Amino acid sequence: MTDHPTATTPGPEAGAADPGPSVAQLDTIVSLSKRRGFVFPSSEIYGGINAVWDYGPLGVELKNNVKRAWWRAMVQDRDDIVGLDAGILMAPQVWVTSGHVASFSDPLVECGTCHRRYRLDELPGAENLTQTELRDPTIVERLNLRCPIDQGRLSAPRRFNLMFKTHMGPVEEDANEVYLRPETAQGIYVNFRNVRESSRKKVPFGIAQIGKAFRNEISPGNFVFRMREFEQMEMQYFVKPEDAAAHFEAWMPRRRAWYERYGVDPERLRFREHRPDELAHYAKKAVDVEYRFPFGWKELEGIHNRGDWDLGRHQEATGENLEYFDQATGEHFVPWIVETSAGADRAAFTFLIDAYREEEVRGETRVVLGFHPDLAPYKVAVLPLLKKRPEIVELCHRIRDDLKRDVMAVYDDTASIGKLYRRQDEIGTPYCVTVDVDSLEDRAVTVRDRDSMEQVRVPVEGIRRYILDRLEEARSAG
Ligand code: ATP
Repeated sequence: MTDHPTATTPGPEAGAADPGPSVAQLDTIVSLSKRRGFVFPSSEIYGGINAVWDYGPLGVELKNNVKRAWWRAMVQDRDDIVGLDAGILMAPQVWVTSGHVASFSDPLVECGTCHRRYRLDELPGAENLTQTELRDPTIVERLNLRCPIDQGRLSAPRRFNLMFKTHMGPVEEDANEVYLRPETAQGIYVNFRNVRESSRKKVPFGIAQIGKAFRNEISPGNFVFRMREFEQMEMQYFVKPEDAAAHFEAWMPRRRAWYERYGVDPERLRFREHRPDELAHYAKKAVDVEYRFPFGWKELEGIHNRGDWDLGRHQEATGENLEYFDQATGEHFVPWIVETSAGADRAAFTFLIDAYREEEVRGETRVVLGFHPDLAPYKVAVLPLLKKRPEIVELCHRIRDDLKRDVMAVYDDTASIGKLYRRQDEIGTPYCVTVDVDSLEDRAVTVRDRDSMEQVRVPVEGIRRYILDRLEEARSAG
C-alpha cells in the first residue's frame, strides 16, 4: 500500500557513495522513447490524459520481455510457485476487508492561490515525515511549507483515497459501485484456497500474478515511474508463521539478483528498510528495492512480511475457512505471507535507463541501448548492403523469415548500412545480419555484435542456429 513516504530516505546502504544515474537527464530517455516508438503520451491527438502512457511497437516488446523474464524466474523455473490471472473488478467488500476503503490514501495539500494539489510527503522539506506527522493538521504551518510553484499558502493535509470507482450493471447507483483494483495482490488472497486445492501445493508455496492496477495518484509524474494506470508483477508466498522471517531474508537477494541478471548496474540498486513508523498497518517488515533514477533513489519493488493479516481478515469477513492443515504435524494455521511486489512499467523503465549509453566511435557519438538480449525488443535485424540487387533483398527476406519462427527479427533497407547499424544500436538490437554481394557467391553473411561491434562471417544455412545459440548463451549466463 501507499501508506508511507516515498521520498529518498537514508537506508541500510545509504552511506555508500552515490553512483549517480546512468542518464543525467530524464528527457534523454523520454525523447528517445517517443522518437523510436517505446512510449507515447496517451490520447496525444486529444491533448493527452495525465499520467497514462501508451507503449509503442518497441515498448510493448520490451515490456512483454520484462514480464516474460519475471514469469520465468518466479513461475517457470520454480516448483513451488504457480500463476494466476484474476479479474480487475472484484467484489467491493474485498476492498473493505483489505483496509483499502478506509485507508488506501495519501496526504493531500492544496495551494490556496493556484489550487495545485500535492502529495504532502513529496514536498521539499516534508520527505521524511512520519505517518503521525503526515496526519497532523498543524504540520504545514509548523514547517512553514509553501506551494513550490507560486509560494502560496497550503491547506492542512487531508486523506485522499486513491481508488478509482465505477459502476457495475446498467444503473449508476451507490449500491453497484465497484473499484478498479489498486493492486493485484487481493486477487491472489481470495483465490488462495482454490489454487491450493486445485494445484495440491504444500506450504511453503507461492502464487504469482501480472496485471493492471489503477491508482488515482495525487502527483503522478517522472514519465512512466508514477502513473494512474500501470501493471504490477506480484508474488505472494504462503509460509508457516515461524518460517516467515527466514523466507523474507531469502527473497531479498533473489529479487535483487533478478535485476542484476538482466543488466541493472549493482551500484545503482540498494535495499532500504522501512522505519517502524513507516510500516503499513499490515506489515511486520518491509524492504524496498531502490534504483538510482535520474530523479533520485526511488522504489522499484517492495518486499513485505505481511504476517497473517490478509488471509486472517478475509477469513473473518467471509466466515470461510482459509487455514492450512499441515499433514506432517497435524497443525491447522493461517499461513503468513511474504510478498514481492514489483511494477512492470517501473522495471521496464529501469532496464531502459540503465541500458542507455553514449560512446565515441571514430569521432562520432554512438547511442546504444545495451539491453540483455532476453529483454531487447528485436533480437536480430537483417540488412542488405545493396538494396538495388533483388537477389540480395530476396536472401535477406528468406533469412528474416527463417529467424522469425523463433525470435523477433526485422528487415530494414531505408538507409545506408552505417545508419542502419546506428538505428539498431539505439533500440538495443543485439545482432545485425548483413547480406552483401559476396553472400551470393560464398553463401555466407556478416553478423555484427551490438556491444563489441565485431563482425563474423557465418554460413547462411547456419545463421538461425548461430543466433539462437548466442541468445541461449546470454540467457544461461549469470
Ligand atoms: P509509492 O509509495 O511509490 O506510491 P507503493 O509503496 O504504494 O508506492 P506498492 O503498493 O508497494 O507501491 O506497489 C508495488 C509496486 O508497484 C511498486 O514498487 C512500483 O513498482 C509499482 N507501482 C506502484 N504505484 C505505481 C504507479 N503509480 N505507477 C507505476 N508503478 C507503480
